[in-house]
Amino acid sequence: MDDTGAVSLVIAPCRQLCDWQPEPTAAGGAGRPPRLLACTGCGSQWTPTERWTPRQADGSEPPAVRAELDRLA
Ligand SMILES: [Zn+2]
Repeated sequence: MDDTGAVSLVIAPCRQLCDWQPEPTAAGGAGRPPRLLACTGCGSQWTPTERWTPRQADGSEPPAVRAELDRLA
């Protein structure tokens, strides 16, 4: 929608299958690059720079998301 050059993430409406996992293809190299996480349920993507926090299908905070936020804190 906007054209600010920001990384374009897939954000789909999450459903009851949401299960957030680290994106295996986005393995970090040197330094501490933001890690890309993806929902295996709806296909949404998320990085810690996003201002929203993914939720699991049951409403809980995904452990992978918590770990990433803690890692960058
Ligand atoms: Zn989802």
